[in-house]
Amino acid sequence: MTTAVRVRGLAKRYGDVQAVGGIDLDIRAGEVFAILGPNGAGKSTTVEILEGYRRRDAGEVSVLGTDPGRPTREWRSRIGVVLQTANDVAEATVRETIRHFAGYYPNPADPDEVIERVGLTDKAGKRIRQLSGGQRRRMDVALGVIGNPELLFLDEPTTGFDPEARRRFWELIQDLAHQGTTIVLTTHYLDEAEALANRVAVVARGRIVAEGTPATLGGRATAKATVHWAGGSEETDTPTKTVLELSRRFDGEIPELAVIRPSLEDIYLRLIEG
Ligand code: ADP
Repeated sequence: MTTAVRVRGLAKRYGDVQAVGGIDLDIRAGEVFAILGPNGAGKSTTVEILEGYRRRDAGEVSVLGTDPGRPTREWRSRIGVVLQTANDVAEATVRETIRHFAGYYPNPADPDEVIERVGLTDKAGKRIRQLSGGQRRRMDVALGVIGNPELLFLDEPTTGFDPEARRRFWELIQDLAHQGTTIVLTTHYLDEAEALANRVAVVARGRIVAEGTPATLGGRATAKATVHWAGGSEETDTPTKTVLELSRRFDGEIPELAVIRPSLEDIYLRLIEG
């Protein structure tokens, strides 16, 4: 296992506000890692420190083997960053802009290939200011990956997307992950974390309150299940036993049978309230 990101005891304060109050993280190379948490939890501060855009007060941080507090050009070229959309009004076209940014990297991807992968081929000749919000966001992602990064940071990548654009965007992220790119994303959307992430950390009040796979986070896999059927329901640690008993009682199929575990959202809300 190679570690892409290692954080120990990270802390950052703004005046009276302890934005990050002692975070430890290990993100493996090749992993998609999601940081979830309510507004103000300290997600952006943490990620901006990892990206080398913000100074920390305390803690050890290593990103691709380098301290982002002392970023080098070579290190920067190995990292892709997709920020929350800038609202500059750009007169250049999509293709011109991607080609221009490719020039900043030692081993850039092919601009037309990147444009194709983000689904903007038919918009390549359009000016950036003529793009829709979703297209503009895909352009941001194209700029994040044009340098062929080993590690890609995505800050709330699909805020404001319609459902179809989100699905397409998820496919793009999955493609990048399959090609071996390590991806760190912050999101408000639990379904997004569940669809994309190998592991999730929930941040609240500047600390990690839970960490795990989406399926097991916060004891989800071992939480009590609720068995529903026509005429009743039961909360139980042994849903299989309950279903077998019901099956005997109904002599076969159980009408309106459903076995329900807490959703990732149920677990998340419990964690951030705690
Ligand atoms: P999140 O990304 O989870 O919404 P942030 O990292 O943006 O959280 O913010 C964490 C806390 O730090 C919040 O209380 C926020 O108001 C505060 N904060 C963030 N950036 C600054 C800043 N530049 N100056 C002062 N306070 C800040």
